[in-house]
Amino acid sequence: MKAIRIHAHGGTDQLRIDDLPEPKPGPRQVLVEVKAAGLNHLDIWVRNGFPGLHLPLTLGADASGVVKEIGSGVTQFAVGDRVLAQPGYGCGSCEECLSGREHYCSKYGIVGEHHSGVQAQLLALDEDKVIRMPSNIGFEEGAAIPLVYLTAWEMVVNKARVRPGDTVLVVAASSGVGSAAVQIAKLHGAQVIATAGTTKLDKAKAHGADFVIDHYQQDIAKEIKKITNGRGADIVLDHVGKATWQASTRSLAKGGKLVVCGATTGHEGVVDLRFLYFRQQAILGSTMGPRGDLFRILQLVEAGKLRGVVDKVYPFTEVAQAHEYLETGKQFGKVILNFSV
Ligand SMILES: [Zn+2]
Repeated sequence: MKAIRIHAHGGTDQLRIDDLPEPKPGPRQVLVEVKAAGLNHLDIWVRNGFPGLHLPLTLGADASGVVKEIGSGVTQFAVGDRVLAQPGYGCGSCEECLSGREHYCSKYGIVGEHHSGVQAQLLALDEDKVIRMPSNIGFEEGAAIPLVYLTAWEMVVNKARVRPGDTVLVVAASSGVGSAAVQIAKLHGAQVIATAGTTKLDKAKAHGADFVIDHYQQDIAKEIKKITNGRGADIVLDHVGKATWQASTRSLAKGGKLVVCGATTGHEGVVDLRFLYFRQQAILGSTMGPRGDLFRILQLVEAGKLRGVVDKVYPFTEVAQAHEYLETGKQFGKVILNFSV
């Protein structure tokens, strides 16, 4: 069976399609025949390299597929079930893991980074590391959901505790996390303002944003003040980092919460402590979310209230081109690898 792996860090020329022995499911494992896998920026960072990674490594945090075989002790799944892989997990036995806070576990790891990834034709996965896929979506949309929705749900619902009527600014709504955050905030009754590049404004509106701001042409903080009559946004969601940090902090209302889950353009940001305390604001770091939240997210997908946003699909054999496309930043939503080819 084929798997997308790296043996060394670097450019897209380091992406290999390796032939590996077919995995056999253990007693509590399911064997999943992968149909589609979602790319994340994480794949690019892992490919480029940072300390603590063990090579060779199979890439990928998101995959959808069909259960092909089950171990003797599997109770939740049967052959033929359509499933999604869980993109991250902790040790499973510490206080954080057992309290539904596994993403705070000291051993928490993301699949395709600290754990072996899911961009392979066959996966032997523990049954608690897969979850049933909603019946109303296809494999490509399924593979677009887990990592970005867990991340966005954690930011909007668990960290920012969005309430009906809140104004939520989603910085870079065209990303996977951004397009998920817009939908989750809208579903909770918020007024959503999204920033996007000039060519993506219409799509941001179509996916639920009430107002859009062109982050190339307009001053984000000024526009936010205009839209909110000078008040600012109750919640700002940022994963862009250095390039938008100032605009994000300036856009925040009194008592507002700025939630950060990434720093794609640089990891340094200045905070004026006088404004922070006088305006009684909070800055919250966030990464991933507990596996259990995917049950609720997928129920809402099944009910037609949330959607995975797919921009472009490549056959998995063209993974290098898919990485290159993701690096251009032209996409709206997710880039998917089709494994049915
Ligand atoms: Zn743990």
